[in-house]
Amino acid sequence: MRTAVVVGAGMAGLATSGALARDGWQVTLLERGERVAAPPTALVLWPNGMRALTSIDPDGGWPAIATPVPDGGVRRPDGQWLVPPRSRAAAGNSPAVAHLEDLYDALVAGLGDVQIRTGVTVSAVRCGPGRRPAVGDGRTEYEADLVVAADGIDSPVRRALAPEATSVGSGFAAWQAVIPGFRAPVLTGDRGFGGETLGAGYRFVAIPLGERAAGRGGVYWVATAAGAARPESPATQLALLRRWFAGWHAPVGELLAATNPEDLVPQEVRELRPLPRAYGFTSGPGGVVLLGDAAHAMPHHLGQGACLAFEDAATLRSLVAGAKPGPELTAAVEAYSRARRPRTNSVVRQTRRMSAVVQARGRLALRARDAALNQLRPRMLGHAHGLASDWSPPE
Ligand SMILES: Cc1cc2nc3c(=O)[nH]c(=O)nc-3n(C[C@H](O)[C@H](O)[C@H](O)COP(=O)(O)OP(=O)(O)OC[C@H]3O[C@@H](n4cnc5c(N)ncnc54)[C@H](O)[C@@H]3O)c2cc1C
Repeated sequence: MRTAVVVGAGMAGLATSGALARDGWQVTLLERGERVAAPPTALVLWPNGMRALTSIDPDGGWPAIATPVPDGGVRRPDGQWLVPPRSRAAAGNSPAVAHLEDLYDALVAGLGDVQIRTGVTVSAVRCGPGRRPAVGDGRTEYEADLVVAADGIDSPVRRALAPEATSVGSGFAAWQAVIPGFRAPVLTGDRGFGGETLGAGYRFVAIPLGERAAGRGGVYWVATAAGAARPESPATQLALLRRWFAGWHAPVGELLAATNPEDLVPQEVRELRPLPRAYGFTSGPGGVVLLGDAAHAMPHHLGQGACLAFEDAATLRSLVAGAKPGPELTAAVEAYSRARRPRTNSVVRQTRRMSAVVQARGRLALRARDAALNQLRPRMLGHAHGLASDWSPPE
């Protein structure tokens, strides 16, 4: 039986482990945490992410956990439209939002026979001609035909195999929260839901979660501010957010008022620069592949990080489906790298452009940004989202 070791039980590792196990691989999933747990936030799934999940697991019930995101357009903090709601619908690119607990539950339900080892922090990788690839935590070595590094932006596996790719700060910090339904303000109609609001170096997005979501009708919001991550306590950070976003159009203030410090998930936004020169490294009869944020961590402004991770998983699964360990599997490892490098590179480029636009600061830059968004709205946003969403699973 073909064997695989997957490092990291985030979304990328869970999706890949389940996909390989369903195709008959014997999979061991290694996770440094004591349990597999979703952060208490939500995720926007663009059509490419949804297609990838469906291709990985057609019975995963993905549409049932994802609620369509209403098209809320783009506004200025005073509520004036920069991009009215219709352009995204016109582009036919409607995303959906899922509570991460629901998404993790569905991914874990799809793991089948995968052996999960928690509390294992991988610190070393073996990869080279003549020997099966392996990873280890200093106590145990885990050897397999295929090693999948899905261990996030600080991946020690990537650092060993592609040291040129370093993790750098993107210049801003993000805060996410889900306000559960029973505590969320009742918000209706034309109140900026599903859209984003752009200020000078600040951004706020609010999306209602469906009734089926773990938040039970709650609201997901994500705020971004230029600068480094804040060292203060969650309560102080929440107070800062309320101050920074004071006076923004409804429902921004109401949502921040309804948020408790323990709802807050603060994060420094980081990315890989440059991307690794390759995502696949052959070793003996198989090799090591990089997947998800371990391969292409990027800022979140296009909401594509996890969607691309699901694309990675669907592509890998398809390429290794019939490959026997030996020349077939090593060829599949190389084909994975060839297939994923250009695709992720172009989405990362688009994301960086979008980041520069939405996080613009300074009077002149803001004026230029707002004018561009006004005039080029279908091209600018539609093109970026279209490019990112325009992907089909490999045959
Ligand atoms: C504010 C924000 C909003 C976002 N919104 C969206 C969105 O709407 N849509 C979207 O598609 N993407 C979004 N993203 C991006 C998305 O969250 C990431 O791309 C995604 O979480 C990456 O998943 P991953 O499994 O590759 O990595 P991770 O989530 O980092 O998971 C890595 C896993 O590996 C484990 N691990 C790490 N090191 C080791 C080790 N040495 N040994 C063993 N285990 C290890 C970790 O504990 C973890 O479980 C957003 C990101 C941010 C910051």
